[in-house]
This record gives sequence, C-alpha cells and structure tokens, in this order.
Amino acid sequence: MAEHGRRRWQLVLITSPLQGHMTPMLQLGSYLQSKGFSIIFAHSELNPPNPSNHPDFIFLSLPDNLSGTGIFSGINQFLKALNENCRPHLEKHLIQMINTQKETSEKESIVIIYDSLMFFAGNLAGDLGLPSIILRSSCAAILPSYWIIPQLHQEGRFPVQDSFLQEMIPEFHPFRYKDLPFIGLPIQEVLDLIAMISPKTPASAYICNTLECLEQSTLTQIRHHYQVPIFTIGPLHKTSPTPSTSFLEEDTSCIPWLDKQSPKSVIYVSLGSLATIDAKIATEMAWGIANSNQPFIWVVRPGSVHGCDWIEFLPEDLVSEMKVRGMIVKWAPQKDVLAHSAVGGFWSHCGWNSTLESICEGIPMLCQPFSIDQMMNARYLSYVWKMGLEMVVERGEIKSAIRRVLVSKEGEEMRRRAMEIEEQVRVAVTHGGSSRNSMNDLVEFILSL
Ligand code: UDP
Repeated sequence: MAEHGRRRWQLVLITSPLQGHMTPMLQLGSYLQSKGFSIIFAHSELNPPNPSNHPDFIFLSLPDNLSGTGIFSGINQFLKALNENCRPHLEKHLIQMINTQKETSEKESIVIIYDSLMFFAGNLAGDLGLPSIILRSSCAAILPSYWIIPQLHQEGRFPVQDSFLQEMIPEFHPFRYKDLPFIGLPIQEVLDLIAMISPKTPASAYICNTLECLEQSTLTQIRHHYQVPIFTIGPLHKTSPTPSTSFLEEDTSCIPWLDKQSPKSVIYVSLGSLATIDAKIATEMAWGIANSNQPFIWVVRPGSVHGCDWIEFLPEDLVSEMKVRGMIVKWAPQKDVLAHSAVGGFWSHCGWNSTLESICEGIPMLCQPFSIDQMMNARYLSYVWKMGLEMVVERGEIKSAIRRVLVSKEGEEMRRRAMEIEEQVRVAVTHGGSSRNSMNDLVEFILSL
C-alpha cells in the first residue's frame, strides 16, 4: 500500500458492468496497484470480472437485483436500477472502513474512483466526505455534450429538424447535430439521462482514457469548464496492459488463419459488445463482405442479430461461399487481430476502445456508429484524423468501401494518416510523453488528497 510518512491510501474503484468500461477500470487499477496503492475493486453481480487475473485486488461484489433489467430495457431505466441497487452494499462497506480507520491510530486515506455510469458512488463519496475521481472510458468530447445539449435545447436548437442534422454545431466544432450522443432518443429522456449522470458532488478530478494529441481543443474546453485536474492517461491498453478482460471466450483460431493471409489484405469486422442489428442489415453486411472478394474476419456476437441465436438467418450457400475466403467468429482476440500484419482495415461501430485499439496499430477504419459517443468517434476518424470512412450499409456501398480502404490510393493515404497518429501515440506513451507524464501526475495527485 502506498505510504507517505504514516499515511496510507486505499483506493476503492467502482466499475460499471459494460465490457468497454470494465476493461479500462481494470487497467487503471493494475497501474495504480503497481504504484503501491491497495485496490478494492467493486463491481455489480452482472458481468463480474475474473479475480484470478488480478490476485492482489480485493474484489467487492455489489448485489444489483437486476433480474430482467438489462441495458436493452432502456438505458435510463437500467442505469437507475443499477445505481440504486448497488448503493446500499457499498455504503455499508465504506462506513465500516471509515469506522475501522477511526479505531486505529494509523492515518489512512480512502479515495473513490468511479466509472461515470456508476454515479451513485460520487454522490455517496460526497455524503461520506470522501474525495472522488471520475474515470471516463469514452472520448473526452462526450463531456461538453452534457452541458451543450441542455443549452441547445433551452435555445430551441435541439432537437433539430432532419434538414439540419448535417450542420456543424458552432460551439461544438467539429461535431454536427447528427453526431450528438443519444440522438434519436426522446428529448426528455436525453435531458433526464444527462441530469442523472452529472455529478451532484463535484469530483476532485477526471481521468480520461484519451490523449492530448487526439483531443487537444476539447480538453482545453473541459479544463476551463470543470476547473479540476483532468488526467489524460490513454490509451490504457498500452499504458497499462492487462491479461484478457473479455466477458466472452475469444476464438483464437483466427490468428493462425491470419498467418496465412497476405499483408494488409484482411478486413476485420466487429460491432463491439453492445450493438444489435436487424437480420436484414446483417444480411447486407454479409453480401457486401462476400462481394468485396477480400479475406475477412467477421465477429457476429451471439444474440447481436435481432431474433437470432447466431448466423442461422444467412442462406447456407452464402455462408459456404464466405467461408472460402474468411472466418465468421463469435468473439475475437481483437487487440491481437488488429496487431496482425495481415489486417488492413477495421469496419467498426467506433466504440472508443475499438477506436484507440485501431489507432495504436495504424489501421484505417470503416465507420458504422450506433449510439452514445460512437458518432463523435466516427466524426473524429473521418473528418479530423482522416483515417476513417463513413459507411452506408448497403451491399454495393459496402463492397466499394471495403475495396476503397484495402486496395485503393485513398486507402493508402488513410493508412499513412493512421500510421502518423500511431506514431504520435507511441511518443505519448513512452517515457516523457504526455500520457506517461499524466500517469505520474495522477499518482502525485492521489497522494495529495
Ligand atoms: N472486443 C474483443 N473481441 C471482439 C469484439 C470486441 O475483444 O470480438 C473488445 C475490444 O477489443 C474492445 C471492447 O471489446 O476493447 C469493445 O469496447 P468498445 O468501447 O470498442 O465498444 P463497446 O463494446 O463498449 O460498444
């Protein structure tokens, strides 16, 4: 445990049960533990982490009573139930820790670090007088949207008519109205959601799984708005790699298959851990992939196609034809796939982890965003970083987009841009780089609390 004089620090990390959120929290915990802090890792019963990968953490399971309330029952309802139900157990545990501390002569600091979706932890920390830090596992740009959306609404500029969706939002460059998170949800639900997840007690600091070189102007805006330290320590899978954190079993057979493919020839297709699609869209995807004539790995997560267990909706002759040139898997070892020299493009839903993982390997992307921050990530990729193409999900368009990214001059240029950004990230995560410095600053900051 980190000690300064006679003072000791206990960090209580509270993760949310989503794959793209738990992974960065485990990575952050590993880093802080390597710096000597003791880690209590609190999680819901839904999607618990694997304790054997982190033998030195103390795991605390929070009864969540979520039976039947999955994220697909509606995000507001899910988050409300998750936060209300997880609070009592953590509260009891923290009070016990505080009481034990009072009984001993040793000085001990308890610091709460919580995933932004587990907002109850910030409120609880405020009630108990404990310092709290928020971990943002998405792009930093989602934070300004929490004050810009209500402001646009107040001024009668949001929601907008369809004809304005492509327009840029002047105070939120480079994003358009169509890139705003939660677009498509009824406005009252969006406002309620923003109010619910906005901290009632101001956090002492924010930790963002991003980099200065990727989101510089947004970070300036956030620092100005919150007036607390913002630590940019990403990409965590490089700054603090951990063993696999996948909820699903990875099909590693795609790696020896990749070994047999030509360099930069394979399109890797994955829509992450949450997105779901209609069988009609999935069928267009299949035809587009097949008609592109390029080798591929297509991740179809079981249950991700409405009303289907897996790929039984696809015509058998199409599946047989596809298997000649590629692999359809249920879950892939994504980071290893992206790091493989045979992979030349990533068709993605543009979740933030997937975006960072692609950037770190210099892989250009085809962007098919669905919700929350994914539209913003896709905008960064296509408009700002110029290493991504926006997709239209129709078989002819898909065929041409795959060929554009893998075998055209335009694709070569996107790859060149992706590799330039990869190099900037490499510098940021090495000794003296911005992310490394920020990690050191974070440790110093925690020790100052
Ligand atoms: N992932 C994986 N195998 C797959 C698909 C995804 O390991 O077949 C991992 C991926 O590496 C990433 C995470 O799942 O770390 C997805 O997170 P992201 O933020 O991209 O999207 P989300 O799932 O939260 O929508």
